[in-house]
Amino acid sequence: MHDSEKLQKMLEVIRDEMLPLAECQVSKGNNIFGGAILRTDTLTSVMVGSDNSAENPLFHGVVDTLNRFFKLPVRPDPGELIFLATHDPCPMCAAALALAGFKELWVLFGYKDIEDTFGVQAGAQVYREVFGVEGTRPENAFFTKHSLKKAVATSPDKEALGELLDEIEKRYETLGVKDTDNPRSEERAG
Ligand SMILES: [Zn+2]
Repeated sequence: MHDSEKLQKMLEVIRDEMLPLAECQVSKGNNIFGGAILRTDTLTSVMVGSDNSAENPLFHGVVDTLNRFFKLPVRPDPGELIFLATHDPCPMCAAALALAGFKELWVLFGYKDIEDTFGVQAGAQVYREVFGVEGTRPENAFFTKHSLKKAVATSPDKEALGELLDEIEKRYETLGVKDTDNPRSEERAG
């Protein structure tokens, strides 16, 4: 599949499957973060998930997607699939993807977007405070992480893809986000 076609199909999965699920989940008090597991050859979704932290604070978008995927009675090998995350994963989700065996990870919004546009600090705080790092290494022994926004920006079809990307970004920005309280933040502020 041509690179532009691959990018377009991933953006369409976000617009047509991940955003509607996120809108539904947000209306139930959850966060906006979501994931999709795609077949490498057709870029069609095997599973889509979205943050379910109202039920359990560990059920982030990636974890919810993995939970749904591993309940499938018959499922492809994760190493043969693509994991698409709306947002660059927090440490828990990044580790979950590595341990589940995914090798190809795509993210829409990066860590800077998460902090600056969405105002969510929790994942970045855990990276910095617990591990002393700023995020995942894009190339590591478990997976390679690609940025959808960067790939669109350098694509020969960036104008058409950019329109679709803008539409998606605007819809995510209108969805409310909630941050996880750091249990020691008040103690420090005080
Ligand atoms: Zn997470």
